[in-house]
Amino acid sequence: MNIVLLGAPGAGKGTQAAFLVEEFDLPHISTGDMLRAAVKAGTELGKKAKSFMDAGELVPDDVIIGLVIERLGQPDTNVGFILDGFPRTTAQAVALDAELSKLERPLDAALLIDVDPEVIVGRLTSRRMCKECGCIGSVADASCPKCGGEMYQRDDDNETTVRNRLDVYAKSTSPLIDYYRGCELLVSIDGDRDPKVVYADVKTALNA
Ligand code: AMP
Repeated sequence: MNIVLLGAPGAGKGTQAAFLVEEFDLPHISTGDMLRAAVKAGTELGKKAKSFMDAGELVPDDVIIGLVIERLGQPDTNVGFILDGFPRTTAQAVALDAELSKLERPLDAALLIDVDPEVIVGRLTSRRMCKECGCIGSVADASCPKCGGEMYQRDDDNETTVRNRLDVYAKSTSPLIDYYRGCELLVSIDGDRDPKVVYADVKTALNA
């Protein structure tokens, strides 16, 4: 299964990816997670990416495309992959198509998790993440529901940055909806429901 998860930040792509990983044991390639790990480790990539991320802007295409191409070259992706947060621009989608056709591993689906932007502002400003396992929770979680680790608020989950991320999504990423519709790969799923209900539709869409 070679899947792209599309949707605004906070639509629930990470949550749906976690369900898919648990059930189908596929590698979860989240460019946001990869960049946060690079920032934490203080690598050159992390230093380059941090200011863009803090402002809610996109990291330049050449940086992120190289990162994903390298990751897709790793053998664990031979069984399939879930791309989460990539592509985010048309240039990234075109580069991904070129790489996957080179690897002879075409996409099976682009799943759009569709959620109203105002719902997203509320979701993201109350979102918390586990410092230990990266599990996604909410302000109501005193500790990680999965591993008991400490929860924190991502630097870019404050309201001003969230609104900018949504603007960037509308301008740069939402054109990909038409792009994948044109490739007959797009499946749109209402993401404004209980995550397990959304997941049932995800599985139906994937015939899984
Ligand atoms: P996310 O966790 O997917 O919301 O990503 C967090 C931040 O990482 C984004 O706001 C961007 O600054 C950066 N980022 C993640 N994926 C990409 C991408 N495909 N292209 C450019 N920037 C990205």
